[in-house]
Amino acid sequence: MGMLIDGKKIAQQIREELKIEVARLQQEQGVTPGLAAVLIGDNPASKVYVNMKAKACDETGIFSEKILLPKETAQQDLMATIHELNRDDRVHGILIQLPLPEHIDERAVLQEVDPHKDVDGFHPVNLGKLLSAKFWNELPPFVPCTPAGVIKLIESTGTKIEGKNAVVVGRSVIVGKPVAMLLLAKQATVTVAHSRTTHLKEICRQADILVVAAGRPKLVTADDIQPGAIVIDVGTNRMPDGKLVGDVDFEAVKEVAGFITPVPGGVGPMTIAMLLKNTVEAAKGMAAMLDVVGTTS
Ligand code: NDP
Repeated sequence: MGMLIDGKKIAQQIREELKIEVARLQQEQGVTPGLAAVLIGDNPASKVYVNMKAKACDETGIFSEKILLPKETAQQDLMATIHELNRDDRVHGILIQLPLPEHIDERAVLQEVDPHKDVDGFHPVNLGKLLSAKFWNELPPFVPCTPAGVIKLIESTGTKIEGKNAVVVGRSVIVGKPVAMLLLAKQATVTVAHSRTTHLKEICRQADILVVAAGRPKLVTADDIQPGAIVIDVGTNRMPDGKLVGDVDFEAVKEVAGFITPVPGGVGPMTIAMLLKNTVEAAKGMAAMLDVVGTTS
C-alpha cells in the first residue's frame, strides 16, 4: 500500500515557518505583510475560500482586507478598486477571487494587478517568467499557488524529480500548464493530457509522477497507475451527497501507488500555504526595494 502524502501537515509546517518570518519582518523592518482579497458577487464557494484565506492570514500575522463588491459591479469600477490596491502601501498581495461574473473580462482584470503584488501568479508577466523559468532567481518569485503546492508535495516524498516521467492531466492556466512548466524546470520529462487526449490510460501508466487536475471524479483508476508512482490529486468535486472527492479513485489507487495525496487534506491546504508564502515574499520584495531607495517608512 502506498504512503499517504499529508498535505495538511506539510502546509501547517510551512505556516508555522511563515509565522516566524512575519514576526521577524515586523521586528527588523517594521513591515507587516498585507493581503487584499477582492470578491465580486455572492458565489457561496468563493465566499468560503475568501474567508479561509483571511483566517489563514490572521493566524500567520498577515494583515488581511476583504473587499466585497456586488455582482453587478461594472468592469471599470473593479479596475478602479484594483488601481487603489496597487497604490496601497499596506497591501503587498492582491487576490481576485475567481470565477468572476460573466460580464467581466477576467483576463483584462488580472492584467491590472501590479505584477509585484500578483500573489496568485496569474499576471501575464509572472506567467511569462514561469515559461522562461527565470522565477527561480528573481524577486518577487510568484508561482501560481496550487502548482507550487503540488511541487512541494512531490518533493516531500524525497523523490528526485529530475529525469522522471511526469504526466499532468489538465491544461488550465491556473493548474495544469503551470504544473507542467514547474516539472519541466525541475528536469522531468513532461506529458500534458487533456480532454482530447487519446489513450489516456496508457499515458498515465507511463508516469513516475502523475498529477491529475481535470475536475472529473474517478477519472483515474488503479489500472492507470504504474506501481510505485507518485499520485497527486488536485481535483475537488462536490458529490450529490455533499462529499468532496478528487479525480482519482483513492481507495483502489492507494494500493498500487507509491505515494498518494488524499482529497480533502492533500493539495487544498497547500494552495493556501503557498498564497501566504507569496504574500510574505511580496512584502519582503517591497521591503528590499524600499531599502534600495533608502527609506523604510
Ligand atoms: P478546468 O476545468 O479549467 O480544466 C480542466 C482540465 O482538465 C482541462 O484542461 C480539460 O481539458 C481537462 N479534462 C477535463 N476532462 C478530462 C478528461 N475526461 N480527460 C482528460 N482531461 C480532461 O479546471 P482547473 O484546472 O481550474 O481545475 C481542475 C480541478 O482542480 C478542479 O476539480 C478544481 O476544482 C480543482 N482545483 C483544486 C484546487 C485546490 O486548491 N485543491 C485549486 C484549483 C483547482 P480541455 O482543456 O481539453 O478542456
